[in-house]
Amino acid sequence: MAATIGIDLGTTNSCVATVEGGRPVIIPNAEGERTTPSVVAFSKDGERLTGGVACRQAAVNPDRTITSVKRHMGSDWRANIDGRAFTPQELSAMILRKLRRDAEAFLNQEVTDAVITVPAYFSDSQRQATKDAGKIAGLNVLRIINEPTSAALAYGLDNGMPQKVMVYDLGGGTFDVSIIEIGDDVIEVLATSGDNHLGGDDFDERVANHLIDAFAREHGVGLRRSPQALQRVREAAEQAKKELSSMDSTQVNLPFLAQGSQGPLHLDMTLTRATFNDLTRDLVERTTGPVQTALNDAGIAASELGCVLLVGGSTRIPAVQEHVRKLTGKEPSASINPDECVATGAAIQAATLSGASTGLVKANSLLLLDVTPLSLSIETVGGVATRLVERNTTLPVHYSQVFSTAAAFQTSVEVRVLQGERPMAKDNKAIGTFRLKGIKRAPAGVPQIEVTFDIDANGILTVSAKDLDTGKQQSITIDDSDRMSDEEVERAIRDAELYASQDEERRSALAAREEAQRLLNEVDQALAAAGKQLEKDEKKRVKADADELRRLLAKHPGGFGKKAREAQEQVEDVTGIKAAADKLRASSEHVRELAAQR
Ligand code: AMP
Repeated sequence: MAATIGIDLGTTNSCVATVEGGRPVIIPNAEGERTTPSVVAFSKDGERLTGGVACRQAAVNPDRTITSVKRHMGSDWRANIDGRAFTPQELSAMILRKLRRDAEAFLNQEVTDAVITVPAYFSDSQRQATKDAGKIAGLNVLRIINEPTSAALAYGLDNGMPQKVMVYDLGGGTFDVSIIEIGDDVIEVLATSGDNHLGGDDFDERVANHLIDAFAREHGVGLRRSPQALQRVREAAEQAKKELSSMDSTQVNLPFLAQGSQGPLHLDMTLTRATFNDLTRDLVERTTGPVQTALNDAGIAASELGCVLLVGGSTRIPAVQEHVRKLTGKEPSASINPDECVATGAAIQAATLSGASTGLVKANSLLLLDVTPLSLSIETVGGVATRLVERNTTLPVHYSQVFSTAAAFQTSVEVRVLQGERPMAKDNKAIGTFRLKGIKRAPAGVPQIEVTFDIDANGILTVSAKDLDTGKQQSITIDDSDRMSDEEVERAIRDAELYASQDEERRSALAAREEAQRLLNEVDQALAAAGKQLEKDEKKRVKADADELRRLLAKHPGGFGKKAREAQEQVEDVTGIKAAADKLRASSEHVRELAAQR
């Protein structure tokens, strides 16, 4: 079974997680890192680079290195490389493809289904663009979910008592703050606010400017005109910033940064946390407004918060944490990893949506039942489960399909409603049966019976059948409690995998029966059409072969309901039918040709 993953597709870094053995786990990339830079680059010889490799060559190839694509999602922005305009979706897809490939290598299995997270403020077109990026990367995007909801889900897993939490997310390029209510079975965003142009990059820029100015003062040489020197300073600034999250001072050392009149010039400076705080104080202050707006919009005071979750790499900055303490009067939660919790929540959501049991009791109970966990079908001729609603279809659902009768002059049909992934009815769970009576007497295949499945937002399924000729209608309502438990769901999916090949055999047996029936009809018509042109002996031979095939088929009649199930028991043994059909095909070749010429 293909694994499902959760992807935090970040502005600066991305992270992938899955659920294994009932616990969420972060999937390291091919380089062994737990997060992957969201960077794409095009080398001069046309090679496409993604992640860490793209990031490392940025200094020597700044014009062909693309960062922060996420800022452009859903817009008409394009990256023009070698005469080709790349959309944000295409560039994001390159990152997603790397994440997917690395996950497949790590898990040693195919990965197709994924949940991808987006900021809560993302518009419909930004969400659609993200979904399209997933599609381009060959992913089946089960759902796009909000990053703060995802973080709250990861947190709620271990701390699930009903409460309101604040998710304070300061990443590389954006700041988001959300107030979220974790209920008994719902996680709901009450309010969200933020600043699309505030993030770790701004902190880096402050440090970089500080270094460049100090270099200019010391050497009288400007660095701003040299893209390569600038890129090196920016990288060093980010590194210094990160180090200052755990140390009081750090050394920035960039040898051979520029050429002076006396020879090469080196940058060598000490940067303290106090200086860093001075340089960036106003940036930290800028998060105050959105925090207050979010609290106001949610209609609560900070004191009513159950906890504050810090998300995004920039919340590692001590001054940021101190500011959050001051704003909320709360000690931010230390129980979640700011870089990984969004992907973790997405993985939990992905596992739940894919129908696999996550083993995470709390996660299951925290989610809304908002998709059909398994496919829904009705039983049709030959014991086949004919699917009307695919699993993971988002609720509510309304779907109709027209069926007909299998036997001549049948005045009623039994509608058996099934749940499960197997192609044959008997292998799925029957969740309800009803009979539509009063069908007008007609030859097989003539009556038009419309079967409709309606599932409302609460997961209540109503199945109805209507004779389109007489208008007679019958329906049943099946609520969720009648359906399969999590364990049953899990088993059904496992079975589907396990029995895939057996199912295939049965399916081909059924196809053989159908083919035989089709041939019989053709021969009957040909015999009638060819009429006197046919020698008596030949006619007799063909009729005998046709009768033999008819006899074998009649031994196991098809149809709705019970009869079909009985037939299914024997349908595997179609070797006789196949041989009889081959015989008839050969003996009737001439008569069919004659008929075709007329
Ligand atoms: P994200 O978009 O959540 O991956 O956040 C990335 C941002 O977090 C970048 O600006 C990083 O420089 C920043 N960041 C990562 N680790 C740290 C750290 N230890 N201290 C300060 N900032 C960090």
